[in-house]
Amino acid sequence: MRIEKAKRLTKLPPYLFAELDKMKSRLREKGKDLIDLGIGDPDLPTSSPIIKRLSQAAKNPQNHRYPSYQGLLSFRKAVSQWYRKRFGVELDPEKEILTLIGSKEGIAHISLALINPEDIALVPDPAYPVYEAGVIFAGGKPYPLPLQEENHFLPSLEKIDKKVAQRAKVLFINYPNNPTGVVASRDFFRTVVDFAKEFNIVLCHDLAYSEISFDGYSPPSIMEIEGAKEVAIEFHSLSKTFNMTGWRIGFVVGNRAIIETLHEVKTNIDSGVFQAVQEAGIEALRMNEHTVEKTREIYQRRRDILAEGLARINWQIQLPKATFYLWLKIPSSSSSLEFTEFLMQRCGVVVTPGIGFGSCGEGYIRIALTVSEERLEEAVKRIRADDLIRREFLNAKIKRKC
Ligand SMILES: *Cc1c(COP(=O)(O)O)cnc(C)c1O
Repeated sequence: MRIEKAKRLTKLPPYLFAELDKMKSRLREKGKDLIDLGIGDPDLPTSSPIIKRLSQAAKNPQNHRYPSYQGLLSFRKAVSQWYRKRFGVELDPEKEILTLIGSKEGIAHISLALINPEDIALVPDPAYPVYEAGVIFAGGKPYPLPLQEENHFLPSLEKIDKKVAQRAKVLFINYPNNPTGVVASRDFFRTVVDFAKEFNIVLCHDLAYSEISFDGYSPPSIMEIEGAKEVAIEFHSLSKTFNMTGWRIGFVVGNRAIIETLHEVKTNIDSGVFQAVQEAGIEALRMNEHTVEKTREIYQRRRDILAEGLARINWQIQLPKATFYLWLKIPSSSSSLEFTEFLMQRCGVVVTPGIGFGSCGEGYIRIALTVSEERLEEAVKRIRADDLIRREFLNAKIKRKC
């Protein structure tokens, strides 16, 4: 039988990395030592009190049954306490918080809750690919909001056609931003909240990187903006903050009517997060700030090693104030895909080509700081030792526009 996949799958953007993946396996088979700076997955372990709590909770037979759909009330209470302490924001744990199987799950499902076929969703470009995929699965039309360096990688809302804004149902934003590493001010958030109110658009903010920040900077929550709860929800994750990507736990907070729609979708699709994992999540959220501070220090040192090393071959880098990514402009002589292949073959350094995050990501690569200092130093050494790359940057003609 010939299996014909559903049209929604064929509407997803093409998977551009097949060649890269093949090249990666070929080089690995040949025994080449690859330094993988491609994946946004922390290399640091989950801290032991969280693991201890999981193993205790796993022994409790009450946790062996189906969890509740909206998540343990005790977990949601821990979230509301964390939000109060961290952002000064009050949330009702009963109605304004929902446990998610990782924030990716909620981000993918929110479009099913809000979007009808042919509805428009405003999606940044470049961006975490799940926003667009969720919209496509719901039958909606993603409308790209270019994030350009001239505008500090913030969307220019005033440039959106009024007719498009009027038809839009949902707007996604994400600051601190993956892949660009930039942050947004409360003033920017206020502008976005006003825009969403004016056009009656549900605002979905992704705050996955709120705790991975540097130089003393502390990223805000959109819920700090007055009136945000009338139009917005905010996705959050324990993955990056507490090195828990494998545990699959996140949450969403904000407008109760919007949260209720997501709850309704989820009730029909999944059955919640293993309660022992939610108990471990409570442990994480109550953990001493010191532990997260250590994580921040580790990424900051890595960021500085890479930036200083690459600056010496004239590769200019904007130091990110948050996230564990560097978003680097590449010489205009090659595409981001070609440059990525070039780095992999010549230096054994794996990065992510910007085009993988949308067409406005062309001209950039993303580097994830998820390997040790030693490996980062080795990566810098190899890149600097490569004559061709050095020459590219000495003749630097780095200009691009999407
Ligand atoms: C990692 C990441 C997420 C997803 O995290 P989960 O592990 O699903 O909680 C969401 N948004 C962005 C921008 C990310 O980089």
